[in-house]
Amino acid sequence: MNLNISSSTQIKIFGVILGVLVVSVFATLQHIMIFGVIKPNAYIIPAIVGSLSGFFIATWFSKLIEAKKEVENSHNRLKMILEGTEIGLWDWNPQTNDVKFDEQWCQLLGYSLEEIEPHFNSWESRVHPDDLQQCYKDIERYMNGETEFYSNVHRMKHKDGHWVYILDRGQIVEHDENNQPISFTGTHTDITHLKEVEQELEDSNKKLKRLTLIDGLTGLSNRRALQEYLIKEWAHWQRQQTPFSILMIDLDCFKDFNDTYGHVAGDDCLKQVANVLSTNVKRTNDIAARFGGEEFLIMLSGINSRDAIKIAEEIRTDIQNLAIPHSTSCCYSTVTVSIGVSSCDSDKPCDSYQHTIEEADKALYQAKEQGRNQTALYQY
Ligand code: GH3
Ligand code: MG
Ligand code: MG
Repeated sequence: MNLNISSSTQIKIFGVILGVLVVSVFATLQHIMIFGVIKPNAYIIPAIVGSLSGFFIATWFSKLIEAKKEVENSHNRLKMILEGTEIGLWDWNPQTNDVKFDEQWCQLLGYSLEEIEPHFNSWESRVHPDDLQQCYKDIERYMNGETEFYSNVHRMKHKDGHWVYILDRGQIVEHDENNQPISFTGTHTDITHLKEVEQELEDSNKKLKRLTLIDGLTGLSNRRALQEYLIKEWAHWQRQQTPFSILMIDLDCFKDFNDTYGHVAGDDCLKQVANVLSTNVKRTNDIAARFGGEEFLIMLSGINSRDAIKIAEEIRTDIQNLAIPHSTSCCYSTVTVSIGVSSCDSDKPCDSYQHTIEEADKALYQAKEQGRNQTALYQY
């Protein structure tokens, strides 16, 4: 309580004196009017009654002043807190659609209090059209008692045209005699900065996820990405019974390349080969991955063995046409690859993708055995 004791006591003393005076004067006048004389003894009781009444009235009055001061202080404290936290206040009467906005509410959107009409439409017309329906739903859910309080995040148009993310929270604080809400009060908080940080975090997470799925040297999918892809696609293939093919691609005599030209040149060579693979594998359901050191795997969906061999041959020729010199190659004068192919199609059904990979690996071994720089189809 901010009212000090002395001023409270002063009011009470003043009340007592006033009570005594008013009642005494009144009693005197009455006595004169009735008896025509002044009789001091007759005023004792009215004076006591007057002093007591004055005391009680003064006490009640001082309490009223204290309460008023208390409300004023609380209001000022709340105002200071809200100014510090940049929270805007609104108080909506759902029966009339009148809304009291405070200065801070308007400032969050770049307006002054005078520029905002105290009506529901002032809020509604500034909410992003894509967010408005969810706002209505959340208000309705709260009104129906499904949630403890109304809460929603939506975008609102700032005076200068950009969108501000608002955290909107509120509660019904007063009903009329028919139990209809007449005061639905809440706050607006600008969370645009938080939303931006959240977006940045989301982007970084996506980037990080992408990085964990990409081979650092070649930029192709790594084994982890391949594994995830195979699990997902295998279920799909089983349902659809569409053919698919696996190509295992291995650089020929690459150890000799490294020994001759060095590891850095070897890395560069791997990048060029990977580039040819990604150029040839463009469809969204296909994948080209680095399977191991100088070994790559391509998975082609909807492709039978005949078409798979054609694609493998195109890739092999494209790599040979890179014409990267390999003077110590055991099979050719430039860098080449051997490719093993295994397909699942109407001629040869499959029981697992792991099995098909093993078959492609066997076909690759066969291509190496037959002299390298060639494609071999798994013979079953
Ligand atoms: P083959 O024709 O039988 O496949 O012979 P190869 O020499 O290619 O096979 P081998 O398995 O003997 O050697 C593979 C070489 O690939 C050995 C290794 O130095 C090289 N290699 C694997 N990963 C990398 C890499 O990331 N960078 C470089 N520069 N070389 C790599
Ligand atoms: Mg090799
Ligand atoms: Mg190898």
